[in-house]
Amino acid sequence: MKNVQRWSKMSIAVMCIIVGTLVIGKWGFSDTGEASQAVTPAGSSSTLVSPNTVGTSEPVGTSSGSTTSESSGTSQASKETKQLKEMKQPEGKVVYLTFDDGPSRLTDEFLDTLKQHDVTATFFMQGSNLNVAGYHDEVKRAVDEGHYVGPHSMTHNYKKLYNQNEFVSEMKDTIDIIHNITGVKPKLVRAPYGSKPGLKDSLRNELAEAELKLWDWTIDSNDWKYTGNPGGIVNEVKTQTTEDVEIVLLHEKQQTLDALPEIIDFYKNKGYSFAVYKDEEHFPLNFWKDERL
Ligand SMILES: [Zn+2]
Repeated sequence: MKNVQRWSKMSIAVMCIIVGTLVIGKWGFSDTGEASQAVTPAGSSSTLVSPNTVGTSEPVGTSSGSTTSESSGTSQASKETKQLKEMKQPEGKVVYLTFDDGPSRLTDEFLDTLKQHDVTATFFMQGSNLNVAGYHDEVKRAVDEGHYVGPHSMTHNYKKLYNQNEFVSEMKDTIDIIHNITGVKPKLVRAPYGSKPGLKDSLRNELAEAELKLWDWTIDSNDWKYTGNPGGIVNEVKTQTTEDVEIVLLHEKQQTLDALPEIIDFYKNKGYSFAVYKDEEHFPLNFWKDERL
């Protein structure tokens, strides 16, 4: 009897060990399985997150087409401008002041005025002006004081840029100069005369391949027309301001400098905050509605 009991105790113990091993083995196995499954969802969800995040944080939008101010002619813009605004927008009332065609003998004074009003802005500078060594301190100062300095081509020449297809290579050259002066490599370009109609498909493809971005504007201040009449510029800005997010086209002109304090006051009184362009917070804003740019 004792032997029998012993035997059955042993077999129970052995059975327990076998069952236990099987159970643990199974758990172990399924653990691994879940773990690897868990990894997949985590991975894919993080992929989903970025687009979402991008979507929310980036205001896209606007459209403006208004006029190609940049002085050349084509203006088929107004309608397009307001259509652009149907895209995503940044939260709240935000205005981006943009200054084209510098650096110039006025750059320092623009920076002074912006500093006095605690406003940062976006500059699009032209290579032929950037090559003037006497302006390099101003260009550095702009970056040091929190402004964005992007390229506006080397020559500002319509034929060269759009008919002879030099657009992208001129922008790259301008970026190199900005980089040499400031140490910063901007990715956002502004097209001389606006991107429409000059920046045809082939040039936009080339721009996208170069991983560059492009902003037109939602408000054309027409400031270059108002020599000696800063009030005219202020009126343009006031009457064209209709949306929560506005990108204002301005130039480094004396009358623009004179109008600037009033333009800033206007937006402050309307409850706008002043934003400066940032590569990492890009949103598309071009007359072609090309989402790649
Ligand atoms: Zn220009």
